[in-house]
Amino acid sequence: MSVLEKLTSADAIALEDKYGAHNYHPLPVVLSRGEGVYVWDVEGKKYYDFLSAYSAVNQGHCHPKIVGAMINQAQTLTLTSRAFYNDKLGVYEEFITNYFGFDKVLPMNTGAEAVETALKISRKWAYEKKGIQENQAQIIVCEGNFHGRTTTIISFSNDENARKNFGPYTEGFIRIPYNDIDALEKALQSSNNIAGFLVEPIQGEAGVYVPNDGYLAKAKALCEANNVLFIADEVQTGIARTGKLLAVHHENVQPDVLILGKAVSGGVYPVSAVLANDEIMNVIKPGQHGSTFGGNPVAAAVAIAALEVVKDENLAENAERLGAIFREKIGEFVTNSNIATLVRGKGLLNAIVINDTEESDTAWNICMKLAENGLLAKPTHGNIIRFAPPLVMNEEQLLDCVSIIINTLKEFEK
Ligand SMILES: *Cc1c(COP(=O)(O)O)cnc(C)c1O
Repeated sequence: MSVLEKLTSADAIALEDKYGAHNYHPLPVVLSRGEGVYVWDVEGKKYYDFLSAYSAVNQGHCHPKIVGAMINQAQTLTLTSRAFYNDKLGVYEEFITNYFGFDKVLPMNTGAEAVETALKISRKWAYEKKGIQENQAQIIVCEGNFHGRTTTIISFSNDENARKNFGPYTEGFIRIPYNDIDALEKALQSSNNIAGFLVEPIQGEAGVYVPNDGYLAKAKALCEANNVLFIADEVQTGIARTGKLLAVHHENVQPDVLILGKAVSGGVYPVSAVLANDEIMNVIKPGQHGSTFGGNPVAAAVAIAALEVVKDENLAENAERLGAIFREKIGEFVTNSNIATLVRGKGLLNAIVINDTEESDTAWNICMKLAENGLLAKPTHGNIIRFAPPLVMNEEQLLDCVSIIINTLKEFEK
């Protein structure tokens, strides 16, 4: 069909189905516009966005300040590669390192690339600073982890769907249960070859698993005692999502290596980053790591604007306050519900557990009904629905959404 004709939802879905690889299973909603907490489909129906592109759009859809920065920079200079300097990268590097309190940043584009970068830096640090024998470094990871989709990252996933038939796998990872400080201590004692501990401060994709209070601080202390890098993957939890700038800030932890992505750009452009202090970051020398687009001037301009919005609009405080209201209201409902068993989360990263088996399609059907009722959310693992709206939401909108969610769930009470 001609691209000039106006597509219906059915047309757009048929095109993706026929010409695109089937590597996702989207809800059958075709979006064509977004503004703040809202998105509209091609038929003009308006929805609250309760996924925020997996927490990339924390600053709200098409934030004018961020889009403005992108347009300005795109009309001036888009890409030089790192073969030359550009006049935006250094400014951005100073800005983001001051913002998060690290000496240095290594700019990349996607979350998975940033995780790969952090793993490479940590291994190199282990050989050159800690004195581990070449090719012996181990990195501790957690069961239920999600860190992206590259071959190395899926090598240490325990999600069979993400792993199966993609081997052979990258070696050098030890997997321990999440939220289990004894398991971490044992793993650290099991070998002198541990380079780092890679952890999500809240496991987002796994279903918004919030570890016990104190877990992250204790883990950081154990890493320090064992001269092991504490590597925090804040791609989903960072940038004000959980009610603090970083989720580790709830426990006053400063990671040795910090991984950021998604909302670093407010969902406007792929921007990711790895932050660390000099004694770690300086193990990387010219030619040893990089990316053609990493640190390009558009990314730099967009990320500065997006991070300024987070502070200017007090998004962390807003997420903290609205998240508490969300869990209180939904929690009251859950107490007397037989379709929802639990609400959990921090800030505006929350999930509702649906009372059915992992294999059931109840959560999916609830999300279909939520869409019909004007709110977009998606199941994470089987029977868990994640709720993560843009952080620019106000209280009135949140309460409106809480009623939509509760009324929809009521339609499924058994
Ligand atoms: C989304 C995500 C990633 C991967 O980011 P991509 O940009 O999709 O590669 C890594 N870690 C966590 C915790 C994520 O949520």
